[in-house]
Amino acid sequence: MKAHHGMYIGGEWRPAAGADTIEVVNPVDEQVIGRVPAGTAADVDHAVRAARAAFPGWAATPPAERAAKLAALRDVLVARKEEIAETVTAELGSPLPFSQAVHAGVPVLVAGSYAELAATYAFEEKVGNSTVYHEPVGVVGAITPWNYPLHQIVAKVAPALAAGCTVVLKPAEDTPLTAQLFAEAVAEADLPAGVFNLVTGLGPVAGQALAEHPDVDLVSFTGSTAVGRRIGGTAGAAVKRVALELGGKSANVILPSADLAKAVNVGVANVMSNSGQTCSAWTRMLVHTSQYEGAVGLAAAAAAKYGDRIGPVVSAKQRSRVRSYIEKGVAEGARLVAGGLESPREHGYFISPTVFADVTPDMTIAQEEIFGPVLSIIRYEDEEEAVRIANGTVYGLAGAVWAAEEAEAVAFARRLDTGQVDINGGRFNPLAPFGGYKQSGVGRELGSHGLSEYLQTKSLQF
Ligand code: NAP
Ligand code: MG
Repeated sequence: MKAHHGMYIGGEWRPAAGADTIEVVNPVDEQVIGRVPAGTAADVDHAVRAARAAFPGWAATPPAERAAKLAALRDVLVARKEEIAETVTAELGSPLPFSQAVHAGVPVLVAGSYAELAATYAFEEKVGNSTVYHEPVGVVGAITPWNYPLHQIVAKVAPALAAGCTVVLKPAEDTPLTAQLFAEAVAEADLPAGVFNLVTGLGPVAGQALAEHPDVDLVSFTGSTAVGRRIGGTAGAAVKRVALELGGKSANVILPSADLAKAVNVGVANVMSNSGQTCSAWTRMLVHTSQYEGAVGLAAAAAAKYGDRIGPVVSAKQRSRVRSYIEKGVAEGARLVAGGLESPREHGYFISPTVFADVTPDMTIAQEEIFGPVLSIIRYEDEEEAVRIANGTVYGLAGAVWAAEEAEAVAFARRLDTGQVDINGGRFNPLAPFGGYKQSGVGRELGSHGLSEYLQTKSLQF
């Protein structure tokens, strides 16, 4: 694992303005595996200047050439897949096969999709007597979390570059090595200097400086609702564009006609994957009263099977946050049927895959995002109640519906206040818009909807 001691700004690794560093810790064994510079407002300012200087040239580059550069970037991500997977595993703790398939695999699909979209998107259209140009918004400040470290970066940087914007990235303090590897890939793909810049650092220092910088035109943030609210407020006051991908508390609704065993097993796997650190995870399982005990038994057995194979959570802080939710679940009267506070290993930030039954919709564990391997199973009496419970949180990011007939599941899904629903298991689609209703966020990522976030229209009338 190679750590760079500088910031990637204007196409080169430059020394940081200050001397402070951030320790990168492997969550499996709690060992320090590297140090990266803790950026300050001065580093952010250098990076924003570089992005601003590169903007006119990149914006004027024909879309087909931008597409070719993105295709080159995708090819580097393919060539360095193993190194990416190993780096994510080292700093996030996810099992290597999952890092290979998802953390390294999905960004290749997303980068590839934007190479294609940049080449085919209608950046110019005729509307009656007008010609409408879709022009890049300008300099983008991207702030990303640690849970899918490379995916979150690529889901912002690829559409921004496809649109003709330039970018300054502030990645999560827990996973900066993956971000440095991405900067190396940008260099290797020979993108023009300054179109992508990286400043590692702490959220309240480097992140805040980026969100507040007057020469940033659009802030794209993924992370907690608390920080997202602040960033939205700052952007609002400055009248600048903002995209927020925040938390979730998604419902997995199993209708009585569904294949119960399949729905429960896939549902448990969904929550435990990435150790529960997925904003779109289906952390509330809604089961009809007639099938309730059957579902609880199946879920408890499925969770127990995972043991420590899901990997740890990212940090000691995250482990104590998740543990306090488990304590709260017990204190509020939920029935613990798998996992709990006992850690499956002596070292590392491991949490046992945990399942609570008899969770009522008003409990803390049914309302707040836990971001750990914890599933809540909630009972419903009829479809109306299932809709009410599913929609009864401040979030609306994702969800799932299971039924014997697709049409029945679709009819139910249409009643959910949420941005994405998987029908009978669904399949990940890198072109489908991803983003939240309600407090899960503002804006969409992925596909053409994600691209249009980085564009603004100019209409010429004839
Ligand atoms: P977070 O603090 O919101 O972190 C997201 C990003 O924002 C990180 O790069 C972070 O930097 C940065 N940041 C923090 N404070 C900032 C500020 N004042 N101004 C600008 N940027 C700032 O999230 P977290 O602490 O990593 O995790 C907390 C909770 O957020 C989790 O338990 C989970 O519920 C939720 N979360 C959601 C998602 C999602 O995909 N929706 C992802 C991660 C976390 P640092 O890394 O230095 O903090
Ligand atoms: Mg934080």
